[in-house]
Amino acid sequence: MELTKQAQMYEGKAKKVFATEDENYVIVSYKDDATANDGLKKGTISGKGVINNQMSNFLMQILEKEGVPTHFVKEINERDTVVKKVSIVPLEVIIRNISAGHFAQRYGVEEGIVFDEPTIEFSYKNDDLHDPLLNEYHALALKLATKDEIALIKQMAFKVNEVLKAYFLNLGVKLVDFKLEFGKTADGTIVLADEISPDTCRFWDAKTNEKLDKDRFRRDMGGVEDAYTEIFGRVMNEK
Ligand code: UDP
Repeated sequence: MELTKQAQMYEGKAKKVFATEDENYVIVSYKDDATANDGLKKGTISGKGVINNQMSNFLMQILEKEGVPTHFVKEINERDTVVKKVSIVPLEVIIRNISAGHFAQRYGVEEGIVFDEPTIEFSYKNDDLHDPLLNEYHALALKLATKDEIALIKQMAFKVNEVLKAYFLNLGVKLVDFKLEFGKTADGTIVLADEISPDTCRFWDAKTNEKLDKDRFRRDMGGVEDAYTEIFGRVMNEK
């Protein structure tokens, strides 16, 4: 059956989520709205929803082929996608290959230091608490996930990094860092959820280190739409 949008279930900062005729599936609809700095900075990035929807779907399909289960089901138009209905594990999982952003600030180092090994960190996904950093023991204590789920999430996150780092390098792009979210389907399977896009990843041109991601919006650098278009073009020309 063709699934269509039914009642809106939820509206987030960058996406809306709609029920469908089948309780196991929902439709996500990507908006052009952008926020940064813990929601204090708000704006619009024209065409962002179209780019993030298609780019995220494309990357999720590459990951599926590489053995990473995802929520992706079917793209239905340039902004809307059918995904498996999941309960989101309330952890933001951040992988870093190169120092940038909060890592550089927190530890007082410059941006651009290439790590020998990728790092992983978790934040508690909770807007009221401003997504505080936590470790695995804290996540267990708070019952955000089980030990086995955390082990699986870590394994999947590093696998995503291996696949995407190589993929982007081939496009002349350094995958600096990114944030992942995982969800649990009705039968308890952990799948990669949310999105993989210039909103959630840092992409630097491999030759010039030019930023091709949301940092241009966060830091008022200008050229935001052009950067999204550039990274999208590089990914989609590979199709
Ligand atoms: N990130 C994200 N959502 C967040 C926080 C971070 O998608 O709420 C992504 C961000 O785009 C970057 C990576 O996670 O690719 C690491 O972000 P960092 O911790 O440096 O924080 P930021 O400086 O982006 O707030």
